[in-house]
Amino acid sequence: MDKELYCDYSATTPVLPEVLVEMMPYLMNGYGNPSSVYTKGREAKEAIENARKSIANNMSCKPEEIIFTSGGTESDNLAIKGIAQLKGKNGLYITSKIEHPAVLNVFKELEEQGYEVIYLDVDSTGLVFIEQLIDVTRSQKKINLVSIMYANNELGIIQPIEEIGHILKAYDEETIFHCDAVQAVGKKMLHLNGCDVDLLSASGHKFGAPKGIGFLYKKKGLELNCQNIGGGQENNLRSGTENVASIVGMAKALEIHMDNLINKQNQTHSIEGFIRTYLKNINGTHFNSLFSDKQNIAKIHGILNVRFDNISAQSLLLYLDNKGIYVSAGSACHSDSDTPSHVLKAIGLTDEEALSSIRISFDNSMTANEVYYLVENIKESVEYLRKM
Ligand code: PLP
Repeated sequence: MDKELYCDYSATTPVLPEVLVEMMPYLMNGYGNPSSVYTKGREAKEAIENARKSIANNMSCKPEEIIFTSGGTESDNLAIKGIAQLKGKNGLYITSKIEHPAVLNVFKELEEQGYEVIYLDVDSTGLVFIEQLIDVTRSQKKINLVSIMYANNELGIIQPIEEIGHILKAYDEETIFHCDAVQAVGKKMLHLNGCDVDLLSASGHKFGAPKGIGFLYKKKGLELNCQNIGGGQENNLRSGTENVASIVGMAKALEIHMDNLINKQNQTHSIEGFIRTYLKNINGTHFNSLFSDKQNIAKIHGILNVRFDNISAQSLLLYLDNKGIYVSAGSACHSDSDTPSHVLKAIGLTDEEALSSIRISFDNSMTANEVYYLVENIKESVEYLRKM
């Protein structure tokens, strides 16, 4: 087999053909500005509102709770800075050590500005130490904002979001809970209606929509400082002419992903099982991410993080690249650097272990032949690199 095999779905996904079809009219004839009052503008506006309804329906929330943004990073920035600017420095800001840089770097900036920030530790599977959070509540300090990701982009581990929400709201109704769900939207059934999450970030390119589009769920009635000032679009929360075609495409992509979701997840889970079984046969293989033989384990299927003793992940990555196989070392934001992943370090790996780890991520479309091609090439590459 001489082909391209894309196994980096956590970095980004190909745009689904049905999504492109849905978008085309808004790139061709339906190019009106949604703020214009004439027919062409009103049609674009209607397309946005229909997309909002469809997304809200799939997220079990109200359409007016969806704010369109340019993606996960912007949604995270809007949520965290939007709350910090309103609540100020009197009170704690809490996150975890394994967040994506789109969250971590915002917290670092807050810290530099004099906000009091706590970074929660995680255990060896990547689960946040809830006890640490409970300890903070015992200290009776005011907590302004907690931001914990739904699923980690390097390990797939899912945090106990419901439990964290309950703890926070039982402690203080005023504590705001933000959740970066970029790796979960389109892969998990989320019911935002009535849950304790106040703000939730999503990104279209992680589930078959183009890059540069996403949304932030904001619970009805919650106040948030806007970060983009201008024409007052998105209910004055995110000014800028809307990316109509991508918004329409993102709604379609989510609709496709949510259709028959359980079946697709089961298929992805089986594929992950096959890959692990094959990889186990390579000497010196260790899995950094969990796997379950039960459906309900707290893990996103299709994210597999593995390391091979005495192998440089960068060399392996390049070697596989020559064979047309695309995987990553850590997350996409680490793939071209020699810095060990902060996530793998946080779960207790040494620098050397972290630098010998790769992430393989895929969906249910991977065929048996592709699985075989992937594992055979990994085995051959690892053996070759070890001999070198
Ligand atoms: N949050 C998580 C957990 C992610 O995995 C990513 C992207 O990899 C982002 C945020 C950033 O999203 P975007 O690429 O849409 O800015």
